[in-house]
Amino acid sequence: MQCPLCQSEDTRVVDSRSADRDTAIRRRRSCPACGHRFTTYERAAVVLVRKRDGRLEPFDAEKVRRGVNFCLADRAPETATIDAIVNAIETRTITSSTDISADDIGRMVLDALKDVDHVAYLRFASVHKEFQGAEDFERELASLDASDDG
Ligand SMILES: [Zn+2]
Repeated sequence: MQCPLCQSEDTRVVDSRSADRDTAIRRRRSCPACGHRFTTYERAAVVLVRKRDGRLEPFDAEKVRRGVNFCLADRAPETATIDAIVNAIETRTITSSTDISADDIGRMVLDALKDVDHVAYLRFASVHKEFQGAEDFERELASLDASDDG
């Protein structure tokens, strides 16, 4: 853990204890380079996503990956590009200070695709506008064949 004051990489943990009723670990750290002391909290990176019917479910990066993969299917994307999109969205959900909804994730996918591939963006946008959200999107994809003839 880098020292926030002098950016030295070599900081030491001087105290470590459970916090927030065992949902976090609080660590006091000290920087030998400049003497600065600071605190870090370690938490499990579980993000709950609010679905449109109000239920909560854990964020599922693989679900996002499947949606992104589908939109980019014949666009020959590099795996690194897809990884970067999914990782960026996961990081945004983990670091978000507000509740995340399925619709928020849909918008994040849209933002990411806009920078990568316009055809994939339009594909996702057409579905997102109507169904709002990555998981609705996925469900609708699954039922597309069935609903073809109305
Ligand atoms: Zn320091």
